[in-house]
Amino acid sequence: MYKEDPLPLRPHHSLCFQNFAGEGYSGGFTLSLARIRDSLMQDPERKVRLTTGPDRVCGACPHLMGNACSSPKPSLFDQKVLALTGLAPGQVLSFKELLALTRPLNRDRLEECCPGCQWLPLCLSLQGKTMN
Ligand code: SF4
Ligand code: SF4
Repeated sequence: MYKEDPLPLRPHHSLCFQNFAGEGYSGGFTLSLARIRDSLMQDPERKVRLTTGPDRVCGACPHLMGNACSSPKPSLFDQKVLALTGLAPGQVLSFKELLALTRPLNRDRLEECCPGCQWLPLCLSLQGKTMN
């Protein structure tokens, strides 16, 4: 039983976690992303609440403008992941469950999930190798 509230998480960030290799939009963002990812990996039963708005990862991102991402692309990535997994915004599940559903997407359908992302070539070259 976990007393903590579920961690808000954009669905596509579960893909980003799987390919994270220390790159990011800024030093502060990269450090924050690494911390969030590491804490979830160490506690895979931790509950996350899917959101299509800014999450904890966005909190340290230079592209967060007020309460929205300055790019329209991440919303599309989220919609893709939701459609392909059958998950819904607001749904609560464990990080382990989310990973089980998104690992196949990362392996087989990453180009479909993240069209136009600047990191796509790097992520395609990694495809989960940084998270085992
Ligand atoms: S680019 Fe947008 S969606 Fe991605 S972490 Fe930054 S604010 Fe969040
Ligand atoms: S291509 Fe972009 S959105 Fe997709 S997993 Fe990589 S960094 Fe995340």
